[in-house]
Amino acid sequence: MTRSTIVKLVVESPLSIRGEGRGSLQEVLKVPIRTEDGLKYWPVIPATSIKGAFRGIAEVIGSSMGSDDPRRKLMASHKRERGKISHDDKNALNEISLKERELLERMGEGGSSYLEYLACPICRLFGAPGVAAKVRFSDAIPSSEPVLRYMTRTSIDRKSMKVKEERLFAEELIVSGEFRFVMIVDDLDSLEEELFNSVMAYVEEEGLQLGGGKSIGRGRMKVYIGQWESR
Ligand SMILES: [Zn+2]
Repeated sequence: MTRSTIVKLVVESPLSIRGEGRGSLQEVLKVPIRTEDGLKYWPVIPATSIKGAFRGIAEVIGSSMGSDDPRRKLMASHKRERGKISHDDKNALNEISLKERELLERMGEGGSSYLEYLACPICRLFGAPGVAAKVRFSDAIPSSEPVLRYMTRTSIDRKSMKVKEERLFAEELIVSGEFRFVMIVDDLDSLEEELFNSVMAYVEEEGLQLGGGKSIGRGRMKVYIGQWESR
């Protein structure tokens, strides 16, 4: 059964979601949103950014969820480098039913990576090339008008490590606000459910970090998960 919920995000440290750059101004990504006072251009957090943060957490948790069965081993060996997913431990692939394996193996090279993606709970929850994600996210839109500020920054020349004075620019940031997005989850098997629940518990406890400048502490969000509803 598919279930869904509404998740609330509260900005805890300045959030940088880049939209248009105009000269030395870097604006926040904004889209038209229907509000009680008509159409407004308000910032949004793209679903891809939220999904990326959840997947990153799942990859860390998944690698430490034990290795006492082949699928857990496969999950622990899940790696993503420059967008490419691989698994070193492929013993779990024998667990995929013969019917599916026969079909996928007929596809040659590509077919065998489908097998990996289907058996790995991380790939199954968040998707892999040719395999649809079981967890889906909407963009997060503000529940009321967020507070935006321009912050001036100088850019540092990476070669000389000197400030390029002519490169002073202002970046627009979301300094406070509340966003909501919808999360839809398809039927999960028991190992996928275990991973999913651990990820949700972690996120509820620790929050999420979204957008640019994570290394300098930007984009920390408090997370409130709503009631789940079956549909
Ligand atoms: Zn995987």
